[in-house]
Amino acid sequence: MRKSFGAAEVIRGVDMDVRRGEFAVFVGPSGCGKSTLLRMIAGLEETTDGKIVIGDRDVTDEDPVDRGVAMVFQSYALYPHLSVYENMAFSLRLAKRPRAEIDEKVREAAGILQLIEHLDKKPGQLSGGQRQRVAIGRAIVRAPDVFLFDEPLSNLDAELRVQMRLELARLHQKLGATMIYVTHDQVEAMTLADRIFVLQGGHVQQSGAPLDLYDDPSNRFVAGFIGSPS
Ligand code: ADP
Ligand code: MG
Repeated sequence: MRKSFGAAEVIRGVDMDVRRGEFAVFVGPSGCGKSTLLRMIAGLEETTDGKIVIGDRDVTDEDPVDRGVAMVFQSYALYPHLSVYENMAFSLRLAKRPRAEIDEKVREAAGILQLIEHLDKKPGQLSGGQRQRVAIGRAIVRAPDVFLFDEPLSNLDAELRVQMRLELARLHQKLGATMIYVTHDQVEAMTLADRIFVLQGGHVQQSGAPLDLYDDPSNRFVAGFIGSPS
């Protein structure tokens, strides 16, 4: 697929296939188009050329809410005036799900994310890590086929990042969902990924299992990027 903003072609021809249930990590330097790619998959950005297929459905022209994807943003994007509970319930209320179902899903997600005792608080009363968990909870309640994470840990301090990394790995195991995770952090990519896609200059430079990329980079850029932890 391709994506241009005016005359600027940001995604110049990306042809990638993420497997069902896989933890795929898109890694690359700032400005290489990672967020744009994710937003295209989510349907938040139109695809200039090419198509996006999820399962056996061509979703290129589908609305974001119909795609079976849920995105977790770097900035959390929580509603500050709503409680943790209402933040997580929001999309289900929009979809007019029955109250009992909403309650069950929110409490189940809160259990997984250790947020039960924080459900009545406002985002402003939470730590950064807890806020990020709420953002993840908002995705979980929708039971998406595909989770999209855009640098979800980059606003957390180093210690919390390590902890959340473990939690994300556990979450992936527990849910078995497909996860597409964007980061510019090589360590995150190496530890989380089943498969890494290295992006640069609007192309996928190389993809493969973390250790394969580490041991056998196909060019100097990949070697420099995967080989030198930040
Ligand atoms: P990354 O997430 O890898 O840092 P982005 O996908 O955010 O990169 O951006 C890739 C390029 O596309 C950048 O040069 C950015 O300035 C440009 N870009 C992103 N969004 C827009 C937009 N809405 N309009 C114009 N240019 C954009
Ligand atoms: Mg980005």
